[in-house]
Amino acid sequence: MGAAKAPSVFLPAGRSPTGLAPVGPKAPGNAGSTRTSMPELPEVEVTRRSIEQPLRGARVLALRLGKPLRWPLGHDPAGLQGLLVGAIARRGKYLWLPLEPAAGAAVPHPRQGLLLHLGMSGSLAWREDALPPGAHDHFDLLTDRGTLRLTDPRRFGAVLWSPALDADPAAKLLGGLGAEPFDPALTAERFHAALQRRGAPIKAVLLAGDVIVGAGNIYACEALFRAGIDPRLAARRISRPRAARLLDALRGTLARALDLGGSTLRDFRDAHGMSGAFQSQAAVYGRAGLPCPGCGGAVRRLVQAQRSTFFCPRCQRR
Ligand SMILES: [Zn+2]
Repeated sequence: MGAAKAPSVFLPAGRSPTGLAPVGPKAPGNAGSTRTSMPELPEVEVTRRSIEQPLRGARVLALRLGKPLRWPLGHDPAGLQGLLVGAIARRGKYLWLPLEPAAGAAVPHPRQGLLLHLGMSGSLAWREDALPPGAHDHFDLLTDRGTLRLTDPRRFGAVLWSPALDADPAAKLLGGLGAEPFDPALTAERFHAALQRRGAPIKAVLLAGDVIVGAGNIYACEALFRAGIDPRLAARRISRPRAARLLDALRGTLARALDLGGSTLRDFRDAHGMSGAFQSQAAVYGRAGLPCPGCGGAVRRLVQAQRSTFFCPRCQRR
């Protein structure tokens, strides 16, 4: 996996080299000042790649529901027995697990599936053993090959049944999402045009996710630094060349995180370790008061849209 081989847009791509083990170490450093454990797009994509291979074609034996998640499942779990897991796709931070009928079987919703979101603290792990669920394991998809388990201490995650990806509730949840960062249809011109319609600071516009998905806090900060853009600048004031630089910077930042995820997954044991690994290489994120790698001046921290922004006031211009 390399930066040139960017992830596909909501299409299954790539083969997973490994499975995910259930629990890993916490992200290192910056305890208290910045929260790095929230799964971001790269973590979700790495998770998708890791569960794709073992799950695809597996036959559903049962669904085990633990404590309530963000939304109810919306379907009788027993009614999903015997279906086969199709190719897992990602859109933004959602994963879509198609549940297909076995050959020749007639079902009321042949394009149905499960929409999964990891929320604030969720992680998915594939297990071949049948270890009983722990206190924070709130969903199991039991199959004839093993179990997909959602561990989610804060329970902002979700597993939601939908009759199809383009039908509600899935369509409603995905409808407001911005462009996929690696979608070739997202040209610099289109990105610039979308920014022109936003008066909010560029950092807040990136975090909102309705222009482009995937620019979580750490990636937004790093991309704005790489592009030399002050995070407080109104999005509509960004020129077309600077918008092109920002789009490149976002893609480069996310590609680096994906590379890191692919190469460190075994060591970190779960996708959450990724943001910690990425952060240890960050230029500005989590580095308030430390020297900017560009100019040596102090990196500054401010709060925008209730989130910490890290930037260099000298290298990043309005
Ligand atoms: Zn600087």
